[in-house]
Amino acid sequence: MSRLSAIRDALAQSPHNPSLLLLLGHACVEELQLDEATKMFDRVLDIDPDQIEAQLGIARVLLIRGDSSGAAVRVERVLQNEDECPQAHLLMSRILLSEGDRPRALDHFEKAVRIDAAVTDAGLEQELGRSGSDVRKSVASSLLPESNSSDLLPPSDLMGGDMGDDFIDEPFDEWRPETFFTPGDTERTKVNFDSVGGMEELKEEIRIKIIYPLQHPDLYKAYGRKAGGGILIFGPPGCGKTLMLRAVAGEVGCNYFAIGLHEIFDPYFGSSERNLHQIFETARSNSPCVLVFDELDSLAVDRRNVRESPMRNLVNQFLSELDGLRADQSRILVIGATNSPWNLDPAFRRPGRFDQTIFVPPPDRPARVQIIGLLAKDKPIAHLDVEALAKLTKGFTGADLKYVFDRAAELALSEAVHTNRPVPISMDLLNDIAKSYHPATEEWFEGARPHVQQSAQDGLYTDVRKFLSAPRGAKNE
Ligand code: ATP
Repeated sequence: MSRLSAIRDALAQSPHNPSLLLLLGHACVEELQLDEATKMFDRVLDIDPDQIEAQLGIARVLLIRGDSSGAAVRVERVLQNEDECPQAHLLMSRILLSEGDRPRALDHFEKAVRIDAAVTDAGLEQELGRSGSDVRKSVASSLLPESNSSDLLPPSDLMGGDMGDDFIDEPFDEWRPETFFTPGDTERTKVNFDSVGGMEELKEEIRIKIIYPLQHPDLYKAYGRKAGGGILIFGPPGCGKTLMLRAVAGEVGCNYFAIGLHEIFDPYFGSSERNLHQIFETARSNSPCVLVFDELDSLAVDRRNVRESPMRNLVNQFLSELDGLRADQSRILVIGATNSPWNLDPAFRRPGRFDQTIFVPPPDRPARVQIIGLLAKDKPIAHLDVEALAKLTKGFTGADLKYVFDRAAELALSEAVHTNRPVPISMDLLNDIAKSYHPATEEWFEGARPHVQQSAQDGLYTDVRKFLSAPRGAKNE
């Protein structure tokens, strides 16, 4: 039974169920059944005229039909009532881009990411030439204190000041990070290790550090091991680090916190350190748990490069919090991800901190096969040859592959709208897009090269070194 038929059957049992109506509406959009999609969204609006998802669904249909001004009117109406809706800003960005208004499209995209750092739309990001992670970083740096205010700060030891005790006895307000999953949350399981192609070593390392110890406590006790620790993952952009951090939530059975930089940085003196301490306290009182920090390089900066900045105090605080976890045997796994490990303070890789480092390279061919399988799932694609596409896309990251599929879907949709009949995505179309696309990871490897050469003895770069020295044709084979 097709996905559409299955949802239609379920809806027949529960015809006024808004979630099912929305589900069918979205599935119809994917299958280009635009009339039925509109009907479903309208039925939701009959039940609740302010339902945002249904309003945006109708706007999306209008955009696909080529009525961008009709779509814009709908989205503007949503934004009048709910200016903080990231999905509405993303859709408005798409609409404006389709009308050739790139500056305003960019404004709306940035607003979406500022409201919800987790929103992504790889196709849109590619067309705008601006990634969500760029925006998140610029938001974080705009929140950083001016470095000249550092005159007011006490000097602290370059390799290990400890500010943790200042806060230990202070009571904490009830606080939760924006992304916080408890074991019972159903939302968390939507993305898990099956959603990530490749990265087998990393998946197993996470199981060893937090999943197996909770499943087999006696065994771990017998071997004198406990749950928790620190893992640093690094590699070129677009290889799935952020996706992997999210997938951990779906895979582990314990509490999970993902910390956004904006939840830490605060322009008031001492507040960022306090925020960080509060995060670790919350993690402690909810252990066992996983605590993840994406874009770690913005937080764990090398203190040699920021001698005069209040940032050093924050780095010292972070180090002392990690040491605190080790000292009190907390069952907390801390995972950090970065594109530029050379910007991290080396002290973070000392034993007991992020002592396990894992390089996430562009996916090799088997991993690309998996990623292509994931991207093709539930899409109307005719005669997909996964192996051939994987072979053709050597050097592509997961994000690059996603772009190929997103772009192919857009072109097929556009043809479908103009011919007024559903057009499946063809293998030729996927091949053509892939052939004209140039993956950007070479740039990352060129940037990494001097750091790898300067740190000849550093085990951190062993896998990068292997990758760089592999014969050209063999990379990512
Ligand atoms: P950045 O450092 O720029 O944030 P990243 O390494 O964190 O990049 P992601 O943001 O996780 O990469 O990847 C972008 C998108 O590309 C993902 O949301 C996913 O759709 C796709 N993708 C990347 N890698 C994989 C993968 N290994 N498996 C499945 N999808 C992937």
